[in-house]
Amino acid sequence: MQGKRIIRPRDRQRFAPSFWRLPGAVTISTHGLDAPPANAADTPKPSFAALGLMPELLRVVAEQGYLEPTPIQVQAIPPVLQRHDLMGCAQTGTGKTAGFALPILQLLAPQANTSPSPARHPVRALILTPTRELAAQVQDSVRGYSKHLALRSAVVYGGIDIGPQKKALHAGVEILVATPGRLLDHLHQKTLNLARVEILVLDEADRMLDMGFLPDIKRILAALPSRRQNLLFSATFPEEVRRLAKELLHAPIMVEVARRNAPADLVSHEVHLTPALRKRALLAHLIRSRNMRQVLIFVRMKRDANRLARQLQQDGIAATAIHSDRTQQERTLALDEFKQGKVTALVATDIAARGLDIEELPFVVNYELPYTSPEDYVHRIGRTGRAGVSGDAISLVSPDEMKMLEDIEHMLKRKLPRAPAASFEEERRVPASGKGPRRPHRKEPPRGHAPAAKPALPGFDFSKPYEPAAPSSTTGREPAPGPRRGPARPTAALLGRRPKRDSEK
Ligand code: AMP
Repeated sequence: MQGKRIIRPRDRQRFAPSFWRLPGAVTISTHGLDAPPANAADTPKPSFAALGLMPELLRVVAEQGYLEPTPIQVQAIPPVLQRHDLMGCAQTGTGKTAGFALPILQLLAPQANTSPSPARHPVRALILTPTRELAAQVQDSVRGYSKHLALRSAVVYGGIDIGPQKKALHAGVEILVATPGRLLDHLHQKTLNLARVEILVLDEADRMLDMGFLPDIKRILAALPSRRQNLLFSATFPEEVRRLAKELLHAPIMVEVARRNAPADLVSHEVHLTPALRKRALLAHLIRSRNMRQVLIFVRMKRDANRLARQLQQDGIAATAIHSDRTQQERTLALDEFKQGKVTALVATDIAARGLDIEELPFVVNYELPYTSPEDYVHRIGRTGRAGVSGDAISLVSPDEMKMLEDIEHMLKRKLPRAPAASFEEERRVPASGKGPRRPHRKEPPRGHAPAAKPALPGFDFSKPYEPAAPSSTTGREPAPGPRRGPARPTAALLGRRPKRDSEK
């Protein structure tokens, strides 16, 4: 594909930390995508052909523009082809979809056929994903990878008419990609039979468990034959995932790419320390001054996503929002328009933090830092710096978010670079356009009525008006989440009041 830089897999074997080893497991792990090998000359350059892929698949990867397999593909494809169970510690963006989809297609190829009879097309591979967007994306990839094989695939997820899905299932598909809730709906309505499934993939298992899908997963497992191959992928490896892996996997091959919690090496970080009330103007300034054509912006609350998208539109920036209160059609449209470059800014809650693959997305902005867990920072910024293409992760951090910033830096084991505020402030004072500064946000205190100065947090510019920390949200309406207390809230809490069944969303 034109413009796509190809990842150079430079693998180095090492043992994964023992805490994520499972009994009977064989561990293969690689360093981050761009970690230099101990001795580059010693590292044989892998190829897709050397991994044992069949000609139809070699043709398709060449057509996709993939010149070399990524590290996860190097490690995962051979064991999956040998029908091993596999536990992959890898994030979306590492090429893991092809890592499991290509060998699955090869394993199913002997049964490929063009018969119109549904009986000749039972579901043989089931791929479960936590979100509808990821399900659609994975099926897109599977469809692309299977184009030279007579294998059918379909995707089922909630929020849209179940009718066409029933029709597709009735006609028969070998590979089914699904979110758990809608899959259960089909099972209950007896529009789906999983008795012939040979391979199960749980993609983004940590996210599925975060979203409260464990009971649904257990019900689905009960509908599957007990003899099958299991592949489990997870970006992180918390205790719940380890427990699930123990139950599910038999003597798995364990594959790890990139350090746990390590953001993509190709992402450059930039922190702007700013009062909350200046964020909107700073964001508009950054979008314009950096000539951003595509920027994914994260906020915490759904209503803030809508509001910020509206405000950006008022500022003359094409923007839309994506979060779980929007209908599936609206979510799909927002994402499509963003991917096609029809809108510049996509404002998202953490629903978009994982899974989405937006080709060559150059900018991710944390309008607000994630407060559920510092690891969400990694997932958010993982939307950029993908497939070997570099990206910028920009965080706008207000005084009340300093603790979250510290937590993130602690997790990353490094301080994130601070951007100088001077250029933005200069421009606000002497705007290049000569039109005068933009009208202040209506919640900004009127000129000359800035609240009395309070001691500023370290790293803040004392010359700027101090903004009280209490109304932490940029809108001033939401209560401050403040530093995290007690156990982390499940990510599902960001997506709604309780973990919703997919079919309910
Ligand atoms: P994934 O992690 O599966 O979401 O993949 C992330 C992106 O990497 C997708 O856009 C894939 O098309 C792309 N990709 C997957 N494998 C390769 C490869 N071997 N070379 C280049 N790009 C790849």
